[in-house]
Amino acid sequence: MKNIYGLTLEEMEQVFLNFGSKKFHAQQLFSWLYEKRVESFDAVTNIKKELLEVLEKDYSIQRFSIVDIQEDVDVCKYLFELFDGEHIEAVLMKHDYGNSVCISSQVGCNMGCKFCESGRRKKVRNLETYEMVLQLLMIEKVLGERISHVVVMGIGEPFDNYDHLLSFFKIINHPKGFAIGARHITVSTCGIVPKILEFGDFPLQINLAISLHAPNNSIRNQIMPINQAYPLETLISAIKEYLVKTNRRVTFEYILLNGINDSISCAEELAQLLRNINCYVNLIPYNETNNLDFKRTNTVQIMRFYDILKKNNINVTIRREFGSNISAACGQLRSKKEEL
Ligand code: SAH
Repeated sequence: MKNIYGLTLEEMEQVFLNFGSKKFHAQQLFSWLYEKRVESFDAVTNIKKELLEVLEKDYSIQRFSIVDIQEDVDVCKYLFELFDGEHIEAVLMKHDYGNSVCISSQVGCNMGCKFCESGRRKKVRNLETYEMVLQLLMIEKVLGERISHVVVMGIGEPFDNYDHLLSFFKIINHPKGFAIGARHITVSTCGIVPKILEFGDFPLQINLAISLHAPNNSIRNQIMPINQAYPLETLISAIKEYLVKTNRRVTFEYILLNGINDSISCAEELAQLLRNINCYVNLIPYNETNNLDFKRTNTVQIMRFYDILKKNNINVTIRREFGSNISAACGQLRSKKEEL
């Protein structure tokens, strides 16, 4: 049985055509699902019952459940239990400009970044499209407010679940779907080069963020195994190609890890690496975890790193921290139920 929340409008149109029915019913159904937010096919009144019955044979409209909610000031973490009993998390951040939600894209993660808690559980499976859509739909329901921004930066490597990710984007961006503007959507990757290149051809103007975290191969190899498959030269040239194709800007995320990648020479090397690239750098204070190999860079040193980038004309910001009290901060999403 498939889930109705996994269909893009085009796919839904095809489903109705395959039933020997009309395409426009898909638009109607889409609007019942995402504008009126019905939770059963019975509530749909302008499509014939017989047709809905045929649809119901192949598609379920069922939602999985939220089994825990942890709240702190301006931030809220949701634990979902999927139909197969797996758990994933999503985090809501309340900004002055709106509600932003960070969603998960996989159960577990195979990228093995040394500093990241989420990756301590190996990938079990990709999330289905509907499992990404429902994270948003269900949060909006309990929140009673609209979500204005979406970031795919929770558990998992989104570009390792590429096809479902793109369907998810089409559904949440569609004016008759969730209607979240592409510029309000961001996807973050550790650097899966072939997908970065492919993403350059995706028509929606979704923001791309790259988890860089090092200014050279020797440091990046130590902390991010993906760098062995796609070293910095390859990554940077793919990003340049993406920028030429899309005429956009990329974000580089850079976690500052004490004594590993936070020296003055690292800052200078980073500035060199990013020279002439239309980008901005988001410096991320490391959220300390149980892993004692990594410590947070102190604030003075973070500022020093920031200043060097600024002086070299790199656009740079320091990420505001959310959710460390409830283990909802970057890299900490890993359900308590699954901790080793
Ligand atoms: N796999 C994707 C998206 C998930 S990780 C990616 O790698 O981009 C989201 C961001 O959180 C990444 O930049 C990741 O490197 C960062 N992160 C992981 N652990 C962290 C920690 N303990 N403190 C701060 N940021 C962390």
